[in-house]
Amino acid sequence: MEEIVQSLVRVLMRGTEYQTFCKCPQCELDIIALSLNTLPTHYVTTEKGRKAVFERMNTLENLEWINKRIIHSIHVVGKYPHR
Ligand SMILES: [Zn+2]
Repeated sequence: MEEIVQSLVRVLMRGTEYQTFCKCPQCELDIIALSLNTLPTHYVTTEKGRKAVFERMNTLENLEWINKRIIHSIHVVGKYPHR
């Protein structure tokens, strides 16, 4: 989950929609942390487990939902940056 959120946050923050938001590493980390807090964690101990979880998470429906959580976090952190 962390890996998915990290890469999604990077992609989203580079989009034109979020040009006005602060993109420093601190804000990026805040957004990732905030998003992860609202999403279920999927801890895995093996590479096989990692693949299975990734395949389950990597559906269009799931990604859309994760995206919504991230966009919410971008706005929250954008309102109160550097806390
Ligand atoms: Zn910042």
